[in-house]
Amino acid sequence: MSDKILIVEDEKEIADLLEVYLTNEGYSVIKAECSKDALVFIEKQNIDLMLLDIMLPDIDGLTLCRQIREKYLFPIIMLTARSSDMDKINGLSMGADDYITKPFNPLEVVARVKTQLRRYTRYNTQETESVNEFDRDGLYVCKDSHICELYGKELSLTPIEFDILWYLCERKGTVVSSEELFENVWGEKYFTNSNNTVMAHIARLREKLGDEPRHPKFVKTVWGVGYKIET
Ligand code: CA
Repeated sequence: MSDKILIVEDEKEIADLLEVYLTNEGYSVIKAECSKDALVFIEKQNIDLMLLDIMLPDIDGLTLCRQIREKYLFPIIMLTARSSDMDKINGLSMGADDYITKPFNPLEVVARVKTQLRRYTRYNTQETESVNEFDRDGLYVCKDSHICELYGKELSLTPIEFDILWYLCERKGTVVSSEELFENVWGEKYFTNSNNTVMAHIARLREKLGDEPRHPKFVKTVWGVGYKIET
């Protein structure tokens, strides 16, 4: 699916020019000539980015920008004929992400559109990647920063211990066999005595987590099956 860009601009020539360039880049383009139409499109369509002119026939672009920001997060690039710095500050404080002064080179607009969309996509991906964290009952584990905290105090885990813990956190609620753990964490083929290696590391990990072997709070043993961290 191509990204959908809404151009809000009452000067038809400018809107058409931008449409040609953006369509050439593979974007799908919708055009609105006033704020009222723009709002209708925004509510009905999934807009990925908006190019917004400041001087519009009904509500001005800055006000529209502020209204949109109350509900939507997609990037907004303001277009304006006025070039004073004050306008730029105004535009950005209304929630715009970038600012282009007329007359502009359409290629520059395309470049800015790409930059904003890339940033937006990255931002959103990171947001959903908060699955890279585990936070429960005082235990906090973050895969990205390799941090493990117990009741707010950082634990020093060896890389293997961390990997074991994260492997279980990532699959919280499901039982992971000793074999699966070994093959994924150590990346080696599992043999009978590999189980001892896993057990030894689990024991050390539990010790650091303050888990009593008989009644572990975090790393549970499911007899005859494997290990588990509750959801
Ligand atoms: Ca205008």
